[in-house]
Amino acid sequence: MMKRARIVLKSGKDQSVLRKHPWIFSGAIKKIYGEALEGDVVDVFDNKDNYLGRGHYQPGSIAVRLLTFEDQEIDADFYSLRIFEAYEYRKSAGILSMESTNAFRLIHAEGDNLPGLIVDVYGSVAVMQMHSIGMYYKRDLIAGILMSLPDQRIKAVFDKSESTLPYKAKAEAKNGFIRGSQENNLVTEYGYRFHVDWLEGQKTGFFIDQRENRKLLESFSEDRRILNLFSYTGGFSVYGMSNARMVHTVDVSDRAVKMAENNVKLNFKDQEKHRGIVSDAFKFMDDTSDDYDLIVLDPPAFAKHHNVLHNALQGYKKLNRKAIEIIEPGGIIFTFSCSQVVSRENFRKSVFTAAAGTGRKVRIIKQLSQPADHPVNIFHPESEYLKGLILYIE
Ligand code: SAH
Repeated sequence: MMKRARIVLKSGKDQSVLRKHPWIFSGAIKKIYGEALEGDVVDVFDNKDNYLGRGHYQPGSIAVRLLTFEDQEIDADFYSLRIFEAYEYRKSAGILSMESTNAFRLIHAEGDNLPGLIVDVYGSVAVMQMHSIGMYYKRDLIAGILMSLPDQRIKAVFDKSESTLPYKAKAEAKNGFIRGSQENNLVTEYGYRFHVDWLEGQKTGFFIDQRENRKLLESFSEDRRILNLFSYTGGFSVYGMSNARMVHTVDVSDRAVKMAENNVKLNFKDQEKHRGIVSDAFKFMDDTSDDYDLIVLDPPAFAKHHNVLHNALQGYKKLNRKAIEIIEPGGIIFTFSCSQVVSRENFRKSVFTAAAGTGRKVRIIKQLSQPADHPVNIFHPESEYLKGLILYIE
């Protein structure tokens, strides 16, 4: 076996690792002894040669994603145990026995102490997305472990890492089934049915992370005129349809709007009160003359990096300001940010600034977050990425 490369950190740069944060930034590295190739398991030491942990190496801003802080092998047993722990956590959190729901996240990367690995389960299909080459190399092993979980629910594994692996990696990943084959792609969430397009859809095909917030919207939708902006496949629209007076579903992607319309059809015989519109959300709000008393704002991550944080906050401000301006008195806004680099406080501040500019009275009904199957590793605050507010506009 090849000797593992040793990475020695600069003095003082071990602080975050000692607090169990799993990322080593390239700037923290003093020297690499031996050859570290993309995807290799490497050992990390402090400036005084004390062992700190072991993880996947990758040239780039985050140079090492630590898998363990102990002196343990990163072998098949390691992956089996971590995946089993993720499974057990979800059992305890009630995710595996959810009522009429069979879509959930089984592995949430750092949130489950498996940096670089996302696994979403849709009925009997597991969809994997690898964000590091080190994880990608283990995809076959991981797929095998997923197929043999205690409840035997997974019958097929789809690898969807083509677009999530780092650009520089020459892995030439191709999306496709690596276990089993195409199964029924219909999932149930709180009794509502959705088609999930794991072949072509965004992320792993469906935004599972909004499940509890969609359920909440259902309880606020009685007799409301709903505008669902950034709808994607219409999750919020479907939940709103049962009680609302009307639902307008807007997305800039023609494909998304078609899928949203299909999902509405899948659940409701009468679709009279639903309308799908392909449009830019900002432009739609500028042009519309319809009255709305419940608006959903669930835009894609405006900021993927810290250096564009300012622009992102401006984006949230502009979007929320427009919605607060046009909503009817007594209206309700569900507003979200899914940017990892935008903190809860920053998001709230940008909504506050937006509200202040409108002259309307705004109350926070509730603060929203991500569900239990997207756990936040307390040592890795970045894994808390979804934040939202339900606002009441007088
Ligand atoms: N609310 C959705 C997830 C939203 S994902 C759910 O519950 O499933 C974000 C969506 O915003 C994507 O579908 C993307 O096509 C859309 N989008 C991105 N920019 C947009 C814009 N300027 N106007 C309208 N939609 C946009």
